Amino acid sequence: MEEIFAPKPKAGEPWDVVIVGSGPAAFTAAIYTTRGAASTLIIGGEKWGGQLMLTTAVDNFPGFPEGIQGPDLMEAMRKQAERFGAEFVQSNVEAVELSKTPFEVASAGTRYPAKTIIIATGAATVWLDAPGISKLIGRGVSSCAPCDAPFFKDKKVAVVGGGDSAMEEALVLTKYATEVTIIHRRDEFRASQAMQQKVLASGKVKVLWNTEVTEAAGEGKLEKVILKNNKDGTTSELAVDGLFIAIGHKPETDLFVGKIAVDERGYIKLSENSKTSVPGVFVAGDVHDWHYKQAATAAGFGCMAGMDVLAYLAELKG
Ligand code: NAP
Repeated sequence: MEEIFAPKPKAGEPWDVVIVGSGPAAFTAAIYTTRGAASTLIIGGEKWGGQLMLTTAVDNFPGFPEGIQGPDLMEAMRKQAERFGAEFVQSNVEAVELSKTPFEVASAGTRYPAKTIIIATGAATVWLDAPGISKLIGRGVSSCAPCDAPFFKDKKVAVVGGGDSAMEEALVLTKYATEVTIIHRRDEFRASQAMQQKVLASGKVKVLWNTEVTEAAGEGKLEKVILKNNKDGTTSELAVDGLFIAIGHKPETDLFVGKIAVDERGYIKLSENSKTSVPGVFVAGDVHDWHYKQAATAAGFGCMAGMDVLAYLAELKG
């Protein structure tokens, strides 16, 4: 069922908004801009859909009491945005021109002029570079305890990392797992004292210091990790059902380096609501949100950016 509220611009005219990215932030923004009658182009990348395309069951996105598979959720969001007239291009963005208006977004040999841009490129999980990790993602290896911890009720799990994220993951996991082992490569945590104390006081968490995961192993699902003590060189095995990697995220900002202000962590800086340092360029989702990193929060930020774009376009019209 098509209900086009936002037709394409006439030849040679700019799009009201070009959205770069195709996760929950991008599609939610598009649902709002199209329903506000703004011509909307989503340049979603060759591998579209963001992090949820790599996930299996999503149980914490509202509206799906029985849960939904990550790729199914993204298909549904895309269809919903397209229903109102969003145009979707499945290619990578190669360059953006923000120093003149209309802005330009270049992708697959075409330069798309745009009155406004929403950056919704997300952030990539930094995975451990060890054998077995990539093939066991979604089969015991995870990077999101709030999403996956309930699958590990009464099971044994480990967390890799020593920062605040690792502490947070471990705390969530203590509510479900029987045993939580933090595996950290040094002899002290990087996390804040407050977070460390909470974790260590929980009574359920064991820490393996100076220890690295050299391999994740299992047939079809994670069964154990191979460990190396980097002080004495000894190796050992730890039987676990879940391995949560919390060694950082990398915001996808390469296209915007030097063109948009970023914070000290490299995430795009918000000047007010969803505004960036460049008037007419807005941001939504994990590319600015280093803290929550959830599909539901990304969707919320997408809604904000969509509404802010509509207000900005109305101001441009005068
Ligand atoms: P982080 O602070 O950069 O910590 C990453 C951890 O992973 C470090 O302990 C690091 O070890 C370890 N690590 C990195 N690469 C590794 C590798 N290849 N193998 C094994 N271990 C590796 O990242 P984060 O914990 O995601 O936090 C990011 C930012 O968000 C921080 O500023 C943090 O304070 C903030 N944050 C705050 C909260 C909160 O306030 N509630 C929650 C989450 C995050 P080393 O220590 O040896 O470098």
